[in-house]
Amino acid sequence: MKFKFILLVIFLILSVEAFAWGTTGHRVVAEIAENHLSCKAKRQIKKIIGDQKLAYWANYPDFLKSNPDWKMADPWHYINFPEGLNRVDFDKELESSSNENLYKRTLIIIEELKNHKNNSIEKNQENLYFLLHLIGDAHQPLHIGREEDLGGNKIQLEWFRDATNLHSLWDSKLIDFQQYSYTEYAEVLDFHDKKFNKTLTDGNLNNWLYDSYQKAEHIYANAKSDDKLSFKYNYDNVATLEEQLLKGGLRLAKVLNQVFG
Ligand SMILES: [Zn+2]
Repeated sequence: MKFKFILLVIFLILSVEAFAWGTTGHRVVAEIAENHLSCKAKRQIKKIIGDQKLAYWANYPDFLKSNPDWKMADPWHYINFPEGLNRVDFDKELESSSNENLYKRTLIIIEELKNHKNNSIEKNQENLYFLLHLIGDAHQPLHIGREEDLGGNKIQLEWFRDATNLHSLWDSKLIDFQQYSYTEYAEVLDFHDKKFNKTLTDGNLNNWLYDSYQKAEHIYANAKSDDKLSFKYNYDNVATLEEQLLKGGLRLAKVLNQVFG
């Protein structure tokens, strides 16, 4: 009995660790997005969630994972691919994938939100919370990772002598290492001019997922099981981490402005 209970606790801890940009990452993305909303999008969003900040809701879909009624939403947070795909094969895999993944579900939510005037407030809230969250997940490269290692969850390694795994390192440990609050991080990342920001928001969800996939390939190539990572890994990867957070925020704003524009 006791043993079963311990197993259950371990399972719960592992499942919380799996598949989630950490809370700070999601809030940074939402905060940057909030700073780039059009007046019209702001007004529409206010009608759905009131005065609360986007960052407040950005992690809600991860909290829902503990609700058995939302079990079906677990695979919405990621999409797996085999390694070494070129762009054409990547797009083929995207199109033939099931409806219950990050790509297809985000497209469904965008379509439903465009039609928000005909939907209930509860449905619009739910869709908006998921959109904020999933565009964030789309920019954590290991959410576009490989099935065999569960997006890096099975690659056990050390981060400053603490046991962790590659997925969790990119979800939160690398972000937490920078020691910014989410508002500070959003502020220091989002300092560029309009022209520069525009270059980061070119393309659509397909382009952005392929971009993340290529980053994931690089991450896989540069870390393996039992690695002992610390300052050097941070030095080599912090630019990629920050680029992904900024891109996530600006692209989320682009999607929200299109949906509510
Ligand atoms: Zn998630």
